Amino acid sequence: MAQPPAAPPAKGRAKTTELPEHLKAYKNVWVFVELEHGRVHPVSWELLTEGRKLADALGVDLCGVVLGPKAEGTDQAIAEAFHYSANRVYAVEDPLLAEYRNEPYTKAMTDLVNKHKPEILMLGATTLGRDLAGAVATTLQTGLTADCTELAIDADKSLAATRPTFGGSLLCTIMTRAARPQMSTVRPRVMAMGDPDRSRSGEVVRESLGMVEDEIVTKVLDFIPDSDTNQAQLAYADIVVAGGMGLQRPENIQLVIDLAQVLGAEYGCSRPLVQKGWMTADRQIGQTGKTIRPRLYIAAGISGAIQHRVGSEGADQILAINSDPNAPIFDFAHHGIIGDALEILPALTEAFRKRLS
Ligand code: FAD
Repeated sequence: MAQPPAAPPAKGRAKTTELPEHLKAYKNVWVFVELEHGRVHPVSWELLTEGRKLADALGVDLCGVVLGPKAEGTDQAIAEAFHYSANRVYAVEDPLLAEYRNEPYTKAMTDLVNKHKPEILMLGATTLGRDLAGAVATTLQTGLTADCTELAIDADKSLAATRPTFGGSLLCTIMTRAARPQMSTVRPRVMAMGDPDRSRSGEVVRESLGMVEDEIVTKVLDFIPDSDTNQAQLAYADIVVAGGMGLQRPENIQLVIDLAQVLGAEYGCSRPLVQKGWMTADRQIGQTGKTIRPRLYIAAGISGAIQHRVGSEGADQILAINSDPNAPIFDFAHHGIIGDALEILPALTEAFRKRLS
């Protein structure tokens, strides 16, 4: 059978792993401060906290990037970026950036990068951040590692971006050695958020967008906020109670919901419960669901598979309820109850109800 011709090398793709001379001028760590309708997504502060460690390891500045209309919310985002340890903020303030649209945001970000040359650029792996990161990386023809779980500076000063691979059974570390900036996205709650220092301030560098409405294909006709008030707010919950296949029947999910209600907690589950249609996908905890960082995580009838562990081990305290003393969840739980979750969950609910009433 005839072999198809080999694909020509992609235009502009780097052929060496050495950093070309002209890219050696790229310096500083940048974090995209995600602002939507006047509110900053907290992942931005988590990334600035992480970015501070990277900037210190490299001996460079930490900078925030704020894109939005000139408004109170934008001023607030700039001020807060300093509180979360940015030395400098690059801001593009333009009415065309009032609603997120890929074209003006990509232009604003790529123009800033081309002019001010950061060596690292980090964005939250949110819906907005994922959309923007991909467009910026392809426009700049640089490397982007998505959904990183760990970021570090390598011996040669490259960014070592670690993320799960092969269905979460392995971790791989990816380097962008021949292009700049080195880009990465990180999901909310994967990195810890530091305490703000309200006394800090810094330098603001303002640039213009240089675009008119006619150049933008996408038009926002209306913004309709999500009306589903039952949507899970797992990522930023203080207490989370979750159930796994150990619950055995869909009606037993109520035992998890009851305990969550008494504790004022959010409730979630392991992936098989979503696959069975027992809970909605927004309640799944783990690698392909939400990453949580509550003060307390109660996991009932969950084995603790690696894909569940990566999304939950950031909790301050983990209480596992499992009938199998050898369940992997006991390897990373702080407290364990070996027994039947169907008996222990209602007993805990009753005990907390009495104590908290
Ligand atoms: P099981 O593994 O069946 O464990 C049930 C546990 O309940 C056992 O430990 C058992 O001892 C215990 N038990 C049984 N009866 C009782 C009882 N009466 N009382 C107390 N304990 C009892 N999983 C996730 O959770 N989140 C993810 O994001 C995720 N992403 C994935 C991505 C990929 C690419 C793949 C391949 C898998 C992913 N998984 C994920 C699935 C994961 O590998 C596990 O299969 C899953 O977490 C197992 O769920 P479970 O612990 O509820 O069920």
